[in-house]
Amino acid sequence: MSENKRFLISGAGLVGLLIAQAFKARNIDFVIFDRDIDVHYRENAGWAITLHWALENFKSLLPPDLVEQIYAAQVLPGFHEKDTGKFIYINAASGDPVVSIPPSKRLRVRREQIRRMLLSGIDVQWNCKLDNIDTTNSQVTVTCSDGTVFTGDVLIGCDGANSMTRRIICPENGQLYQLPVRFCGSRVKMTKAETDQIAADFDPLLFQGTVPENNTFFWFSMLATPEYTQEEDVYYAQVNLSWNVPDYDEPFVTNVDKTEAMKVHSQGLNPKLKWLVDRAVEDPDTILEINLCDWPVVEWPHQTQVLLAGDAAHAMTMFRGEAGNHGITDAFELMKHIDEYLAGRKTWEVAAKDFCSGIKARAAPAVLLSRQACLDAHNFSKIRPDTDSPLLSMRKNTK
Ligand SMILES: Cc1cc2nc3c(=O)[nH]c(=O)nc-3n(C[C@H](O)[C@H](O)[C@H](O)COP(=O)(O)OP(=O)(O)OC[C@H]3O[C@@H](n4cnc5c(N)ncnc54)[C@H](O)[C@@H]3O)c2cc1C
Repeated sequence: MSENKRFLISGAGLVGLLIAQAFKARNIDFVIFDRDIDVHYRENAGWAITLHWALENFKSLLPPDLVEQIYAAQVLPGFHEKDTGKFIYINAASGDPVVSIPPSKRLRVRREQIRRMLLSGIDVQWNCKLDNIDTTNSQVTVTCSDGTVFTGDVLIGCDGANSMTRRIICPENGQLYQLPVRFCGSRVKMTKAETDQIAADFDPLLFQGTVPENNTFFWFSMLATPEYTQEEDVYYAQVNLSWNVPDYDEPFVTNVDKTEAMKVHSQGLNPKLKWLVDRAVEDPDTILEINLCDWPVVEWPHQTQVLLAGDAAHAMTMFRGEAGNHGITDAFELMKHIDEYLAGRKTWEVAAKDFCSGIKARAAPAVLLSRQACLDAHNFSKIRPDTDSPLLSMRKNTK
């Protein structure tokens, strides 16, 4: 048996919490902390994610009672029992499907609900924003902005795309690459009749499209039904719009600026879709801008003392819907190497290095594929059945 290590996990998102669950199941000593004041702090910015090729690995890291809860977090209750896996990409001006991507096994879940589920039995130290890392004396010491200090053997930075851990340990190249595209969206309230109409015209779960004339990208994704909202006839969908910004400028100053830009860029959308954007911009406070950035480096120093996982390790755009699946795979692979270390089959140095080389080989190409998918989503000439765009091959590569 190898010597037990104490792990510090920075960030209680999907990936940090999944690693915490796996540590708990193995009685590994750890502390997990997050900058937010509690789990609900950013829930209004919640979105849905598709768990596809990492679903089985995800389930394998959780106790059976939590596995059941993954299915309960589906945006459409029981949808997996009748899902055909169909995914259509449309001409968002005419509303006609252009490409139908081959089906794959998937589960579309509310991210916020999965995160709450993963918190079960995990004691997160909230309000602790990692501010400094000291790696002297073969120990890692983290200092948070409120003065809280955590000390352990290994820090795992799971602190999201803009990871402070990554920026501290990679002062030269830890910055994100900014894509020349702007992305805004909102949660839109709908009735059953409206929801049914969208399902009949397009798809009940999610679909995407591009307007040929201006290359604006449109994204519809169901979020909740009355079973979740607990309100009669109250449904929610996420409606997003993004557009090319060749000379990327400063972020919007106010939410009204975002709604004005969305109004301009929704011109040309089919009327069966445009009303969704009109409704989204009614309340500027609900508009969320997501910065489209990535980090294809997926390599960092101090690998035996500081590891990165999830968006912190491989920030990528969501145009192939697989960043979360990669994050889950990071957790799965990490536990595989830690199990080998604990069984005495690997030294910690080898286990950590194997994890780092594996994540680079798998995720660095994926970041670039997602970057290309994002660019192609804003170029209608790439939207055709014979395309080789990674935007439309997303399900082809899944197991
Ligand atoms: C609109 C959209 C749709 C998506 N759809 C899909 C999909 O269909 N399929 C898919 O696989 N993926 C999808 N993704 C990506 C997926 O949501 C992310 O990859 C995943 O949530 C990342 O989890 P994470 O734990 O790495 O990071 P996060 O969920 O960002 O968690 C990071 C945590 O770190 C905390 N933190 C940040 N800074 C600090 C600090 N300094 N100190 C302490 N804590 C800190 C934050 O508060 C947060 O709780 C989508 C993303 C978006 C935006």
